[in-house]
Amino acid sequence: RAGLSTSCIGRNIVHYHEVGSTNTVAKQLAERGEREGTVVIAEKQTEGRGRLGRRWESPYGKGIWLSIILRPRVATDAAPSITLLAAVAVAKAIKNFCGLEALIKWPNDILVRGKKVCGILTEMKADMDVVEYVVVGIGLNANLEVQDFPEEIRDKATSLRILLNKKISRVNLVRKLFGEFESLYNLFREHGFSPIRSMWKEMNTTLGQQVQVNTLTSVYSGLAVDITEDGGLVVETKEGTKVFYGGEVSLRKH
Ligand code: ADP
Repeated sequence: RAGLSTSCIGRNIVHYHEVGSTNTVAKQLAERGEREGTVVIAEKQTEGRGRLGRRWESPYGKGIWLSIILRPRVATDAAPSITLLAAVAVAKAIKNFCGLEALIKWPNDILVRGKKVCGILTEMKADMDVVEYVVVGIGLNANLEVQDFPEEIRDKATSLRILLNKKISRVNLVRKLFGEFESLYNLFREHGFSPIRSMWKEMNTTLGQQVQVNTLTSVYSGLAVDITEDGGLVVETKEGTKVFYGGEVSLRKH
């Protein structure tokens, strides 16, 4: 905790050796009224989750497995943009701390040299149309080695250690991440999503690409052309222009 320069994000840290999922623990704490900025960090997750119930590999001591509790005073429509905010924060932290070119694949993956180095899972609770709390889960592959990844994801996943060919300081990277996150979150509270949307567009690898979008009920193909003011992905499909939100869709390169 020494040297932390933030006043909200990470001022209160709850550390575990092992949990099922940091998001699940953070949601339980948020339910009991835990304050904004509290972070749940675990050395290992046994049930780390991606979107749509997919598994997130989180081996002991190798990664940054954490969840941040936020209580933004916004309508539920604004929640998807918080995932994009988190992605910009992670990409900036990786750039500034490691000097690596990090790009964002909509909505929730950070890629370096085309491979996934971080995933983000945002979950929220709302009362009517107002957000009560948001939990932002960040799984950042800091010091994993190739053999720490299951074979089936070795061609699409990587870590900072693999990329840099040296171990990195997780503590220092977490500090950097909290700093970037807090700056962006303050900007979001003051000016809304629009300045973050511009930064996101500078760092993204999705716009201008042919994509295939799988929703729970259908599959669409088309050209990803823009991000809306509330974080939706605009795709020109055969059926016309459509907007998708991260929660219930997955995206494939076409
Ligand atoms: P998607 O990229 O399809 O949106 P999710 O964000 O839902 O994926 O994350 C889950 C998926 O990420 C898993 O199905 C697996 O393919 C991959 N994965 C799991 N653990 C890791 C990890 N530690 N690093 C990189 N990729 C991972």
